Amino acid sequence: MIEVRNLSKSYGDFRAVDDVSFVCQPGRVTGFLGPNGAGKSTAMRMITGLTRPSSGSATIGGAHYADIPNPATQVGVLLDASAQHGGRTGREVLTIGARAMGLPGSRVDEMLALVGLTPKEAKRRVRNYSLGMRQRLGIAHALLGDPKVLILDEPANGLDPAGIHWMRQLLREYANRGGTVMLSSHLLHEIQIIADDLIVIGHGRIVASGTKDELLRTAGTRVRAHDRAALLQALKSAGLEATEASDAITSPATPEQVGLAAAAAGVPLLELREADGAGLEAMFLQLTADDQRDLISSEGAQA
Ligand code: ADP
Repeated sequence: MIEVRNLSKSYGDFRAVDDVSFVCQPGRVTGFLGPNGAGKSTAMRMITGLTRPSSGSATIGGAHYADIPNPATQVGVLLDASAQHGGRTGREVLTIGARAMGLPGSRVDEMLALVGLTPKEAKRRVRNYSLGMRQRLGIAHALLGDPKVLILDEPANGLDPAGIHWMRQLLREYANRGGTVMLSSHLLHEIQIIADDLIVIGHGRIVASGTKDELLRTAGTRVRAHDRAALLQALKSAGLEATEASDAITSPATPEQVGLAAAAAGVPLLELREADGAGLEAMFLQLTADDQRDLISSEGAQA
């Protein structure tokens, strides 16, 4: 079990992680979801003892990471798939890891087979690996010591849809054997595929957490109009939160509230319905939009 209590990290007067508390349970895959810059990596670095918290604590199985003996046999960590010596082959990376952990060389072949790296690929230097291959190698490295806990930062980055499904199956089986998995992502749909539980972080703070099913039930409204700009304006004028999704507008408000606001502004609708998960999607898009606005305004300020 991973337990994070009131964890904070400040860089100067900027709070990258702000009073964050959560638990990742054994037998579950916990998705840590947030836009870029939300504080996911910083929190994971604190959990794995690489960054010192400003306050609060994080324990794994009741111990601080730095106090765990031969930690790679207890906790498998993948924080940056590209942080490998590019001149080594995949097989060499795993062999060095196995020796450092005191494991037999046969474990290397088992892991290569598990993550689907062929003998030919294992002989290739890591600098010539695609990002997806690096992720597979990183997962193999994290699993080498047969740990009970896995902590993976954006492991699905660079994987194709088939790769994401492969990872879901791998992590599902690992959790079914009683393992604890914490993985981060900045993509809602990716996490929806893989995770059982979700922790949503934005601007360093937890904004939602619970089982995926609970959070996806957070109903919201999906609405479409020919004149999207007019609809967006109508909802905002009525004080309703609204965010543009790919082909529609989502809002955490009810269809009734949205319909009345559109009618009051005289905007004809093409579609109006309650949508499971629309609340979560709207919240997440809002977080992402906020961040982009922050970025644009800070770039504007610097210019
Ligand atoms: P995420 O993993 O969610 O993309 P990070 O944890 O990497 O987010 O970063 C959170 C915020 O903290 C970002 O604004 C980032 O620029 C800032 N940050 C991270 N590390 C440092 C550091 N060493 N010094 C200053 N700011 C940092």
